[in-house]
Amino acid sequence: MSNSEVLSLASSDKGKILIVDDQPLNIKILHQLFQNECDIYMATSGERAIEVCQKIKPDVMLLDIEMPGMTGLQVCEAIKNNPITANTAVIFVTAHFDEEQEAKGFQLGAVDYIHKPINSIITTARVNNQLLLKRQSDILRAIALLDSLTGLANRRQFERSIPESWQHCSRQNKPLSLVMLDVDFFKHYNDTYGHQQGDDCLRLVAQAIYAVARRPYDLVARYGGEEFVCILPETDSLGATLIAQKMINAVQALAIEHAGSSISSTVTISAGVATTYPTIDSRWDKLLNEADMQLYQAKDSGRNQVKCIAL
Ligand code: GH3
Ligand code: MG
Ligand code: MG
Ligand code: MG
Repeated sequence: MSNSEVLSLASSDKGKILIVDDQPLNIKILHQLFQNECDIYMATSGERAIEVCQKIKPDVMLLDIEMPGMTGLQVCEAIKNNPITANTAVIFVTAHFDEEQEAKGFQLGAVDYIHKPINSIITTARVNNQLLLKRQSDILRAIALLDSLTGLANRRQFERSIPESWQHCSRQNKPLSLVMLDVDFFKHYNDTYGHQQGDDCLRLVAQAIYAVARRPYDLVARYGGEEFVCILPETDSLGATLIAQKMINAVQALAIEHAGSSISSTVTISAGVATTYPTIDSRWDKLLNEADMQLYQAKDSGRNQVKCIAL
């Protein structure tokens, strides 16, 4: 998950509902109930529903059980087994009351049932309840993954994202780069200007770094304290070093006075870059360690610079 995806989790857009039924008339009835408050998407087969679901990531899916081809139960299972779509709240829509089947649906991860013929009051209430729950859990999830000081992804989010990026680059045989960044002489900054102003400084530095890594799958996270880390998938050593240098330049361009720094009159950062071609049996924590060692080299060589290694 990239920074923008984390942020979009908490956005207050209209709810998205995907209506799946092999009978267009049934879709029409449900569509009429929600068209004013929600963005509605439709599919008339299970196979198509899975495709649409991956693309639009609906909040709620109203899923007919009896369909030719994939049944609703099979669709639900597929949706719940895919991490990209697993958070969708699945409500089954069924014409028959069958206790065993209903139990099976709940076991597969459905959250509720609606019975045909559609009662508009009951259906609206059930769907609205699920939309509310989904919105609340999206917000909680987003908060859990964001750093409260800077608004960047936090370390937990970094640790969740890197295995995905690692797998992606390994499958595509593409390089992956990590950049570790650390504010220079930040202890002295706090000592000179106070902790409050130190926090303000970190926010500005975070924004400057974030603004540089803007490709859809880049992730910029606060790793801890005054340290930041970037995941740059499909980025080779040269590209990543260029990005790190741009981050260093962006922080320098902020021109935040730093009387406690012995290398510059303004706030600076140092960066370490490590690049590799991930494989299934290589480990990302080793690459992070390499980036950290490069950061140490950058500090040792006078700070306000980038050092890199390609593995
Ligand atoms: P170096 O150039 O070697 O990185 O020196 P440094 O002073 O930046 O490194 P050091 O690790 O000695 O100090 C890091 C400082 O960052 C100490 C700590 O008080 C400060 N710091 C860490 N997190 C925060 C924060 O959230 N807010 C503020 N204001 N300061 C923080
Ligand atoms: Mg049907
Ligand atoms: Mg540090
Ligand atoms: Mg530091």
